[in-house]
Amino acid sequence: MMATEQVRRCLGLVLGAALWVGSAGTTEAQEAQSIADDAGVVFRDVAVLTMDADTALPGQAVIVQGDRIAWIGPDEELEIPPGMRVVQGSGRTLLPGLADMHVHMDRGDVPLFLANGVTTVREMNGDDWHVALRDSIAAGEVIGPRMFVASTLLAGEPQPWRHVLIPDATAAYRVAHEMKDRGFDYLKIYDGLSRASYDAFVEASRTLNLPLVGHIPREVGLDRVLAAGQLSIEHVEQIMYATVGHEPDTSRIPAIAKRIALTDAWVVPTLAAQWMLSTTRTPAYNARLDRPETRFVDPDIGGWWASLKAPDGVAEPSPEDPRRRRAAAFYGFQRDLARALFDAGIPLLVGTDTPNPLLVPGFSVHLELAALVDAGIPPIDVLRAATRNAARFVGEEDEWGVVRPGALANLLLVAGNPLENLDALKQPVGVMVAGQWLDRDSLKRMLPKT
Ligand SMILES: [Zn+2]
Repeated sequence: MMATEQVRRCLGLVLGAALWVGSAGTTEAQEAQSIADDAGVVFRDVAVLTMDADTALPGQAVIVQGDRIAWIGPDEELEIPPGMRVVQGSGRTLLPGLADMHVHMDRGDVPLFLANGVTTVREMNGDDWHVALRDSIAAGEVIGPRMFVASTLLAGEPQPWRHVLIPDATAAYRVAHEMKDRGFDYLKIYDGLSRASYDAFVEASRTLNLPLVGHIPREVGLDRVLAAGQLSIEHVEQIMYATVGHEPDTSRIPAIAKRIALTDAWVVPTLAAQWMLSTTRTPAYNARLDRPETRFVDPDIGGWWASLKAPDGVAEPSPEDPRRRRAAAFYGFQRDLARALFDAGIPLLVGTDTPNPLLVPGFSVHLELAALVDAGIPPIDVLRAATRNAARFVGEEDEWGVVRPGALANLLLVAGNPLENLDALKQPVGVMVAGQWLDRDSLKRMLPKT
């Protein structure tokens, strides 16, 4: 596979160079080329969302050489180095690629992420093949999103998903070392862990320099998770259950946000997953299930999603319907909590929890961005959560997630201005990963045949 990949990339290089005939402008044929040539790529006359400024800088030129951003400045000051491939940016916005920081990735998902502008993912139930893929992508052997891989779920009670059962502290300590040896980046805390097991993970985490991320086990509780320095808490739902239980009383939200703000914890709200779950067995759910991108999900996953459909002919429940009211109250609490966490200065990450129901890999990032904006978080801050914050979270601040000279060229080019309408992100003009330019046609060609 690696050999084929390299051959393909070399062919692309030759093709790209051959098609470059030194014209000043760019043609469709050039834009249709998916592979960056050695001389680099220049985006001309483009608005740039650097993620440093709050608005897009108009009329910029951005030069990429190798896998890095080499130069950014006013387009009129540009002197195009010879042989460089030009991508026209007029009417378009260039921004860092998006990071989906909570995924459960399948082997065929890479093109789905790239086609949606997702250039970084954090796998939250890692297996050895995820680690191998992460390393191949990092080595430039395979084109794909930058990957971070949390360990397999570390659970204290049996789960319906792949997990490692941790009966006691001794097992916790042993398994933490094993996860380190297997190359995982984080220890994924999951449901049902005892206090003793959790404490053993805390100790191992410090010894091994392997941060804890994940859930809030019931026996451990929010305060202990915060005191332990767990780096990320996944799902505002977890915070809800750890604080108000099944009584979603919104008056308690400010105090909860205050508690978390006193620590260095990050929160990954995964609102869209909850939003979709709140619609199961309604016609709205069925309509979303019929969307074209659903064809990309694995048949087993598709079967699970289909099992949550409303029977044919069922009417959309009225707002007074008790089940609808309960779902709205639970979702409303989580949405308001996410907003309160943002207002309290707690750093948030964008994570989808794909492939939970209706969350197609890649496509679902747009649902999560929309859910966070709908919660009342300004679009620029939602985009920062999806770019710059993610880099800071993994300890690679300024390395990527910004458009700045020296940063990794993981970029997204879209028509229009995503700050005015996030839908602009759904159909990228092209995506750049580690300096390789993939235009819309190339992204489409990479999608699995269905
Ligand atoms: Zn998850």
